[in-house]
Amino acid sequence: MITLQSYLKGAFVAGDATGNATLVNPATEEAVAVTSTRGLDLGAALTYARDVGGPTLRAMTFAERGAVLEGMSKALHQVRDALIEASVINAGTTRSDSKFDIDGATGTLAYYAALGKKLGAAKFLVEGNGEQLTRSARFFGRHVKMPRRGVAVHINAFNFPAWGLAEKAAVAILAGVPVVSKPATSTALATFRLVERLHEAKVLPEGALQLVCGSAGDVLDHLGPQDVLAFTGGSHTARVMRSLNAAVARNVRVNIEADSLNAAVLGPDVEPGSELWQMFVRDVVREMTQKSGQKCTATRRIFVPSERLDEMQEELAPRLAELKYGDPSNDEVRMGPLATAQQLADAREGVAALLKAGVRLVQGSAQDADPIGVPKGRGYFIQPLLLRADAPHEASLVHEHEVFAPCATLMGYRGADDATVLVAKGEGTLVSSIYSDDRAALDTLVAGIAPFTGRLLIGSTKVADQAISPGLVLPSCVHGGPGRAGGGEELGGERGLDFYLQRTALQGDRAVLDKVAAGPGEPAAS
Ligand code: NAP
Repeated sequence: MITLQSYLKGAFVAGDATGNATLVNPATEEAVAVTSTRGLDLGAALTYARDVGGPTLRAMTFAERGAVLEGMSKALHQVRDALIEASVINAGTTRSDSKFDIDGATGTLAYYAALGKKLGAAKFLVEGNGEQLTRSARFFGRHVKMPRRGVAVHINAFNFPAWGLAEKAAVAILAGVPVVSKPATSTALATFRLVERLHEAKVLPEGALQLVCGSAGDVLDHLGPQDVLAFTGGSHTARVMRSLNAAVARNVRVNIEADSLNAAVLGPDVEPGSELWQMFVRDVVREMTQKSGQKCTATRRIFVPSERLDEMQEELAPRLAELKYGDPSNDEVRMGPLATAQQLADAREGVAALLKAGVRLVQGSAQDADPIGVPKGRGYFIQPLLLRADAPHEASLVHEHEVFAPCATLMGYRGADDATVLVAKGEGTLVSSIYSDDRAALDTLVAGIAPFTGRLLIGSTKVADQAISPGLVLPSCVHGGPGRAGGGEELGGERGLDFYLQRTALQGDRAVLDKVAAGPGEPAAS
């Protein structure tokens, strides 16, 4: 069993063993690693990031920071198999689900590397062309976006040990802000291996990235006014993040990515058996079961026209019933266990609460699992579960409680307006999807759903064979959503940099402003 270490001030250090947390293989329940941050000076890590990492990154151009990200992406790709292995044994993900996380990490780093190349020799951004402020053509205003002088503290969820670190770090480093990243303790093995590789490959500028491997300790008490905090996780923890003394007292910029009851809506025009119907079924099954449903973008609510409810249930139920689940290292297996014993307990409790709230279980059992390649009763397995709410307006819990497992609820709607009302009951999603070729229905659905989601995938017959699945987060499009989803926004290409930059209005002589904006290098216009 290995002892994971934090990576602070350019070196790996272990916390005091009295604070050890044990990481397990969720398929076998065997211990695979221990980690502790007890006794580590995390305040000093933030100071080091501000004093060493910040100046190092700010001295670099966007193109140079992009080259760092390219180096990180390549270094990680070279150890792809080892990272997959770490995910399989500690996160319980199949090889395919592990690749989703790891290739997502290297792909996002590569995307921001290319953006850095495009932004070129500048070290900060200049917004637009500026405006004349008075009657004099000489007195002018321009907005610049400079890297903040603080550190970016990133707190991540258990379900993406590689992508979670990379998607946040890529954007911060490109912006010129050093990172202290904290993965969830339970699945930190892959994150530790990833940082170990980056250190070994010597691709990190001094102070650009540090890792807190284990409990957050007192790291958040040290946040200062130029720092930013980006959090991904559950809504209960999100509340803690929003009310941190340091964040409130010093107005630390905070971004939250939290729970989401993502919706998939089958348009009123879609005929059973059609290409669009098949696309809907394929996407729903994938989004329910990929990574054992432990994806923030997984589909939780399935809306179909009321008259199609039975047919849709008949389509989905057998596909879920025949899905092979079990030991994720077994090639036959398509779905692994949940990540921890607590996750399994929470999922069962969540299903029980939904059943009390007017929902029926129409496929699977939350209590009984017979996984392939694992003795019955071992591991944190749960079957894919299809629920059905026949009175979706009354079953309010189904729009409020996220069961973080391969579980979704099928519901009927009466007309496009009704569908938008039901989707909105989720109070904000990361992603929702609509499947329709009907322009009038689409107009109603898009206008009614867009304000309640960060991303909206529109499936239509013409893109049925080329569209991505809604759960796939691309670095070029924003990730985040309003309300329950946390109210945050990440990625989205160049937009993502804004969180790490201070936008400042410069007012003065146009000629002087032009020279300042030109900077030591040529700034990129945004
Ligand atoms: P979680 O229990 O909220 O934990 C998230 C992170 O917060 C972990 O790193 C955890 O560290 C840390 N943490 C917990 N309490 C803390 C505290 N008081 N101070 C500082 N850090 C603290 O969530 P999770 O179980 O890992 O993730 C599942 C949830 O995340 C789901 O609800 C899912 O929807 C959401 N999620 C959202 C997104 C998104 O992009 N919106 C993505 C993935 C997951 P320890 O592990 O050390 O406790």
